[in-house]
Formats: sequence, structure tokens, C-alpha cells
Amino acid sequence: MRKIVVWLLIGIMMMSCLPAFAQAMTPGTYEGSVPGYHGDIKVKVTVDSEKITAIEIIEHSETAGIGEAALPMLVEAVLNNQTVNVDTISGATVTTTAFKDAVTAALTAAGADMGLFTASVVKGELKEETLNADVVIVGSGVAGLTAASYAQQQGASTILLEKTGLIGGASAMAGGGTKVIGSKITQADSDFEADRAQFISDMLANGHNNNHLPTVEIYADTIGPAFDWVISEDGAAVPYTTKFEGRGAGVAAALNRSYEKFGGKLLLNTPATELIVNDGVVTGVIAQGPDTLYTINAKAVILASGGYGANDDLVPEEYLRYVYAGHAGAEGDAITMVEGLNADLINMQFINTQPNSMILPSGLGQYCNPGVSKAYALGGFMVNQDGVRFVNEKTNAWDIMQEMKKNDFQYLVMDQAAFDGFNEGMTGSAIYTMEDVAAWLQDDYTGQPKMYTAESLEALAAKMGVPADAVLASAKAFNEVAAVGGDDEFGRNLTAAQSTEGPFYALQMHIRYYASLGGLHVNDDCAVLNTAQEPIPGLYAAGEVIGGLQGDVYMGGSLFGWAIASGHHAAVSAVESLAK
Ligand SMILES: Cc1cc2nc3c(=O)[nH]c(=O)nc-3n(C[C@H](O)[C@H](O)[C@H](O)COP(=O)(O)OP(=O)(O)OC[C@H]3O[C@@H](n4cnc5c(N)ncnc54)[C@H](O)[C@@H]3O)c2cc1C
Repeated sequence: MRKIVVWLLIGIMMMSCLPAFAQAMTPGTYEGSVPGYHGDIKVKVTVDSEKITAIEIIEHSETAGIGEAALPMLVEAVLNNQTVNVDTISGATVTTTAFKDAVTAALTAAGADMGLFTASVVKGELKEETLNADVVIVGSGVAGLTAASYAQQQGASTILLEKTGLIGGASAMAGGGTKVIGSKITQADSDFEADRAQFISDMLANGHNNNHLPTVEIYADTIGPAFDWVISEDGAAVPYTTKFEGRGAGVAAALNRSYEKFGGKLLLNTPATELIVNDGVVTGVIAQGPDTLYTINAKAVILASGGYGANDDLVPEEYLRYVYAGHAGAEGDAITMVEGLNADLINMQFINTQPNSMILPSGLGQYCNPGVSKAYALGGFMVNQDGVRFVNEKTNAWDIMQEMKKNDFQYLVMDQAAFDGFNEGMTGSAIYTMEDVAAWLQDDYTGQPKMYTAESLEALAAKMGVPADAVLASAKAFNEVAAVGGDDEFGRNLTAAQSTEGPFYALQMHIRYYASLGGLHVNDDCAVLNTAQEPIPGLYAAGEVIGGLQGDVYMGGSLFGWAIASGHHAAVSAVESLAK
């Protein structure tokens, strides 16, 4: 848990915003604490008799670049408006709600009349404004930021639109692992042709040949120069050793800094809502900011608005029973915007799923790889709704997932050693804290995650809602093989038995989905194609919005890499088109 004093903003200019007839509060400093996306958000709120004078975040574990970036904006908004009823920072909804609830708790403790501190923020009438740019880019994930920075650096005038209050999108949630071939900086001695052939073959095998080969080839041919531009001093200068510094959020922040340095114009909280089309040529976008309706005329538009995992209407039905773990902005806006242009869509039936996931109190899916790897080394195993094991828990993610898909639900069953190992992995990755675990294990806790403890396996089975005799039989069979060492019936090599002494623990495990794998069909300029396979003039795409690269499952590091490769390549094409 990061215990840091982040901001102390003194509200001195908000007298005009005071709620009328405010009920006297008891001056002082009060604390409020509410679970955020990860762990508690704790605030200290200082009040005089009428108004909030300061808000200090004294503890949080929100995601860097997302919830963490939203907190200072929320502090400022509440102080300036003297109400907790400020706009949700879209992209950080859970953090916003938790922050508001924590401030509410503190104000309530101060004796505030919350009716007065929940007034709506008064907004003026929507203005209308026309802007002109060479290139307008929709979406500020790594694809959009790369495209915008590069185009701006090349002398094009650009406008970058972001619908949420924060840059980064799903890119800021990613580890930033990047599949690169052809880098002249980091792979100068490598045989590019051999690497290219290997990369393409790996991608096709990984995606079960459901990939769109020309799109895979664009990746192979463009990631090298794109990556070199992103890490180089004359590009975005993102530090890279074997990984990007600061993970996905660090890459997004660095790209944003270079975009600013090159003189780009970023409009936050400004979703593009429709394309402007004249005689079949895309000539700009309509976008709506907090107080302005923009008509943005442009010579080229790059759609980089991410995937559609957050849009239940676009996610195929079969995935909806799994838990969403992606970005709130991934609503497939580009797919909606190209309606009417006869745009070709490919692989819309595929969403990336992963096993080994839990649900956080926020309701969002969370990967548990750092925990399960340790739990399985120490004798953890999974049982399904019948209380029986169903898979080699240590095999590859794809195979585990196929078996999980057959279950109604499943639990990871652990003795004390395996549970300690699981928590060590998860807390070590700052996913949750042991205080969280203590709260989740309380008998009266009814939220997510479903995590239980009991002194016996029978009692644990009762809490899981599975047959106790089956769980006992599963543990007995597991321990018999583990006692002598060797492969069990699923082919898992067992080296550690579970203790027969309690306490025991169970955690409900899930399949999560996030990145979408279908989307717009592009040609080798990243120009969007119509169903006649002709480029739609003026329209380009970059990043997850493009379909077909991956097939039915993504290869690690290649979605993030694709955001960089296609972002750079779409910008190269768009800038070249300006000269025509
Ligand atoms: C938790 C998580 C972990 C991941 N880990 C990895 C990994 O380790 N390796 C890997 O290769 N991939 C990973 N991925 C996938 C990868 O991060 C994404 O596919 C990639 O970053 C997408 O980049 P993008 O720029 O295309 O989209 P995003 O980064 O999603 O950016 C799109 C942006 O567009 C904005 N937007 C949407 N609609 C509009 C509109 N109408 N107007 C304006 N703005 C709009 C969104 O708010 C968002 O900010 C992960 C994804 C998640 C969610």
C-alpha cells in the first residue's frame, strides 16, 4: 500500500461557490475511508464552519495513470465547486465513486448537511466552435498518442481527442510488454528476415490461424521503426531496457509529454461522436467537449479509440458471463462511427479471454498470475461446482480456459502455506493488501471477491457451496500423488501436498476478458477499407480498433506493440497523404 501524502490543495477561491444557508459544521479535520479500485482511498477533509478548505489524500493504491491521475482532479473539482456532486472522471469511475464517498463520510463526521454539499455543478450553455487541423486523432491510448506525436513532429497540425478525463486508455493499464522485431537500436545484430518469419509463424499458431495475415505482416514490417522512434531522443524518448519504464502508463505519459513538446492540441473529456463525410471522403469529426460542440475539419482522421470490450452490445453473447477487466472507454465508438460508410469489419466474434482471474470489490476482473504461480508451487488446486478437480492447473492459459468454460464456477483451494504464497504474489504486485484480505474473509462479507476460510475442508466446502465429500476426495487423491511425487491424472507434476490441518482457504476463480480482437479492416497503409476492399478516403485506423491481427487469442506483448506499430504507421500514411 502506498502511504503517501499526495496533494494538499487549499481552497481559497471558492467563496462564490458556497452553498447558500450552509449548516454550521464543526471546524476541524475529519477522515473518510472507502474501498477504491485497489484497496482503500483514505482522505482527510478540513472544514471551517461553512466550507471545505482542504482535502488531502492520505492513502490509496489506485492504478498509476488512471485512478491515481484522477484523484488530484477530483480534489480540485470538489474544492472549487464545494459539492461532492462533481462529474465522474470517465475512465476512473470506481475511483471517483470511492473518492466522493470518502469525502462524504468525512463531511458527515464534521456534521455537514449533505443536502448542501451534493448540489449539482451549474453548467453554462453549449458553445459551438469550428477547428481546423491537418490530422485529427480519436483516442489517446498509446496508438493515438504515438500517431498524434509523430504527425505533429513531422509538421502536421493535429488535434487529439480523448473522451475520458485521462490520457492512456487500456494502454495505461497494460504491463507494456512489447513484441519487437526489426529494431535498429535494440536488435541491430539480429537477422530481420528470420525474425520476421518466426514472428509471423508464432502469431498464426497463437491465434489458431484465425489471424488476418496481411495485418500480421503490417506489424512485422512496421514495429521496428515505430519502436525505435518511441524510444529515441528525437521521438518520444521513452526509456526502455528489457521493458518500458513505467509500464503502459509510463509510455502514455512520455508520449503525451512529447506531443505537448511538439505543440499538439489535446482535448480531454471530448468524445468524437461522428465523422464528417463529404462525397464519400472523410473530412473531419464532430466532437463534444464539456461545454463546447466542436466541428473539426481535417485532411485525415485516425481512429484510435480502442476496443469494444466495455460495450455489451458488441461483445458476443458467449463472453458476457465472464468478468470484464478492460478500460471503460473501450465502447467500440469507432465501430459506431463508421456505420454508413460500408466499412469492412473482421473477426468481431473474438474477444481475448484469460483464466486465473478474480473479481475485485469494484466488480472488475483482475489477473492473479503472480498469486497462482506461488499457490500452485505450494499445493493449491482448483475444484469446480461438483467439488472435483478438472484441469492441470499449471498448464498453459488456453487449455485451462477451455476447461474452465465448461464449469458453472470454480474455486482455488489452499492450505495456509499455499494461501500465504498466493497473497505474497498478489500483494507483491500491489494488487491488494492484507488488510483487504482480512476484510474479505469476514463471515459477514458479501461482496467480491468470494474468498473464504474454515478450519476443515468440510466447512470450507459448505461456504463454497460444493459437495464436501467430493472436495475431501479431491484433496486425498491430490495428496496421495504429491506424497510420492509424480504426474496426476491431469498430467500435473505434483511436488507439494496440501496440509491435512486447517485452516483452509478458497478463492473463486474466473475467466476475464478485456482486449477485443475484431474491428476495422485496414490495408497496408492502415487506411480503413470498405466492404469492396477499397480505402475510405481520409480515414485511417490504429491500435485495438483494427481487427484481425491476433486471431482468437492475443500473443503477449503484441497488442501493446501493435498500438505503437500501427499508431506510427497510420501517422506516416496520414502525413504522406497531406502532400498528395
Ligand atoms: C489490464 C490490461 C492489461 C493488458 N496487458 C497487455 C500486455 O501486457 N501486453 C499487450 O500486448 N497488451 C496488453 N493489453 C492490451 C493493450 O494494452 C491494448 O490492446 C492497447 O494498449 C490498446 O491501445 P489503443 O491505443 O489502441 O487503445 P486504448 O489504449 O484503449 O486507447 C483508446 C482511447 O480512446 C478513447 N476513446 C474511445 N472512444 C473515443 C471517442 N469516441 N472519442 C475520443 N476518445 C475515445 C478511450 O477512452 C481510450 O483512452 C492489456 C489490456 C488491459 C486492459
